Amino acid sequence: MKRFVAGCAALVVAGVCMPARAGVERPPQFIIMAFDNCTELERWKEFSDFSAEMNKAGDRVHFTFFVSGTNFVANERRQIYQGPRQQRGYSSINFGGPADDVRQRIAYINDMRKRGHEIASHAVGHFDGRAWSKAEWSQEFHAYNEIFSNIAKINDLPSGFDFPASEVVGFRAPYLAKSPGLYTALQDNRFRYDTSGDSHADEWPAKKDGIWRFNLVGLTVHGTRRATLSMDYNFLIAQSMGFSNSRHHAQFREQMLQTYLDYFKANYSGNRAPLHIGHHFTSYQGGVYNQALKAFARKVCDLPEVRCATYVKLADFMDGLDAATLKAYAAGDFSRASAPMLTTADAFKGEPLEISSRETVAAKSVKRANRSQ
Ligand SMILES: [Zn+2]
Repeated sequence: MKRFVAGCAALVVAGVCMPARAGVERPPQFIIMAFDNCTELERWKEFSDFSAEMNKAGDRVHFTFFVSGTNFVANERRQIYQGPRQQRGYSSINFGGPADDVRQRIAYINDMRKRGHEIASHAVGHFDGRAWSKAEWSQEFHAYNEIFSNIAKINDLPSGFDFPASEVVGFRAPYLAKSPGLYTALQDNRFRYDTSGDSHADEWPAKKDGIWRFNLVGLTVHGTRRATLSMDYNFLIAQSMGFSNSRHHAQFREQMLQTYLDYFKANYSGNRAPLHIGHHFTSYQGGVYNQALKAFARKVCDLPEVRCATYVKLADFMDGLDAATLKAYAAGDFSRASAPMLTTADAFKGEPLEISSRETVAAKSVKRANRSQ
């Protein structure tokens, strides 16, 4: 007992331990960072390099990539795909570019997956499926699997993925647009989880219709009363109404980091509900959001009891819980930790502003419209 008290006292000083309150053991703090679309090769390189650096001295961070199926089809082969209610050869985002871009993307994906990152699905043609039937969702999932499994043949490349399409067990709907048929189609197509919903920041995931719902969450932008979803695109809307404004990039970057730290501290010292953060490869605000995400990972992934893991690892963890334990977690019915002290003073050292002069396509077109007024 004495030893426990001494041990705990030391941990109180370190900000980890508080006096015991109840029955179950405190769960780890899962932090899930994921990306959508995943087209740009320079971003694959950026996150490949970043995770290699982070994991040099042990496993600290793993990401989930919701890759759109169009990335697996070279532009000149686009006729092989037809989305539900769409013309053949059409998609609402770009196809994969030249075949050599597809080849490089395959190499990044094989390598990242080998290093413990997860590849998940963002459908193929990035269509709004909110009116789709179960059969139409299944058609889209079937197309994804066909493209995934035949990627070398489709693009006339020497080799494809070195893992089967059956390993893709997670989904995020384009535009987060869902219909009731989505969930039965996910079940039929052996998915384990969906990330297209939204919930409160301290909500533990629930399994419905055999599918874990790992929802994005509502956050308040630090220092403001503005609401946002825990996704970079929604920060772009909340902070600057969809405009990329380079005069404010430093401020927006800091604000996103602070918002994520608020989210982390509340859950870490609260009921430990997993954190869900969604970004894109697109360099919104000249790339500063992805700088903020990396700074966040550097700050938190090394802390005690933190697991910066993939969604599939979270699904494994959730599947291992019995109902009573999950209920106790949701109620925060365990000895709480106190929030660690985290400063942002040196967070962006060596991260220049304007790493990319490209702004979002949307913002550019609005800018053009403004100029012509
Ligand atoms: Zn998307």
